[in-house]
Amino acid sequence: MSKKRKKQHQVTKTTKKTSYRNTVIFIICLVLATVAVIWYMGYAKEQKQKEFNQQMLESARRQREPIKDDWMKAAELVASRSQNAQAKEVMNFLTKNLGLARPYPNGGIQLLDVPDGAQYKAFFCPILPSDLLSKMGEIWQRWNSMSSGGMTDYENGIITVGMGDSLGQITKGIILLHEGNHLRQSQLFPFNHHDNAKYTEEEIRVYKTQHEILAAVGGELYEQLLVKEMDRIGKYLTDSNVVLEDKVPFLRHEYYTELNAIFGPSKSLYERDALQTFLYTNGVMKYIETRYVGDKEAMAHSFIYSFYVHADLLKQ
Ligand SMILES: [Zn+2]
Repeated sequence: MSKKRKKQHQVTKTTKKTSYRNTVIFIICLVLATVAVIWYMGYAKEQKQKEFNQQMLESARRQREPIKDDWMKAAELVASRSQNAQAKEVMNFLTKNLGLARPYPNGGIQLLDVPDGAQYKAFFCPILPSDLLSKMGEIWQRWNSMSSGGMTDYENGIITVGMGDSLGQITKGIILLHEGNHLRQSQLFPFNHHDNAKYTEEEIRVYKTQHEILAAVGGELYEQLLVKEMDRIGKYLTDSNVVLEDKVPFLRHEYYTELNAIFGPSKSLYERDALQTFLYTNGVMKYIETRYVGDKEAMAHSFIYSFYVHADLLKQ
């Protein structure tokens, strides 16, 4: 082979090599570009989803924050009117720690806000009618079928409330102070709430505060009505065959007019019932404490226990 031809051959070989390399680079670039586009599309989608979720959270927070503020104001009003020391402790705990949440279909909650410096597991979860129309979990449906006004989930530190629009400020305040008292206790001094005796003991403790608050807010008229209710309950107990706890909660009596005069007109039938239940439990507990002849402590436990079994909050 002549020198010239050899050179030509080499040039052709080099050109071929270069062309092959360029093709490989092009393919690599193409693959990288495709990967980048796919990644970017995924990323953009994810960002959009994140943005959407953020907006949903923000709108849920905006919807529920005024509800929490309203309940807190109601509790503050009752705590300050009653000047009850325990109620003030509860308010202090709630103000520092109570976050905001909404119910989740699986029965859990989604956190919407937590106060700066909160130290305890404490979440306020209002249930709105729209929550119950959506695919809510069984736990929320079950909760809503009860008429307890508020409930504390000791396990997860959640206070759930519903029916806010049907309740006046005093009733709301009493309910939130009751649940807040449970929540504070369970966080500061944990107890075995699965133990029915301990659960009942805790209810008795909280009712004691609730009854002090009712007396302080209701004043003289409430005290008079309470005596009337104790007299009525006493009549049932004169028959030795009547076991009070077997009659719970059917012994309740209607005191609509009297209660309206004391606490202001009820906003709904639901509120009337709630106030009557407050008076009724107060009447029974005070009857046991002041007039019942026998083991007062055992009777109080027995009453509260059966009250909660009836309400389907305790399993026998
Ligand atoms: Zn309770």
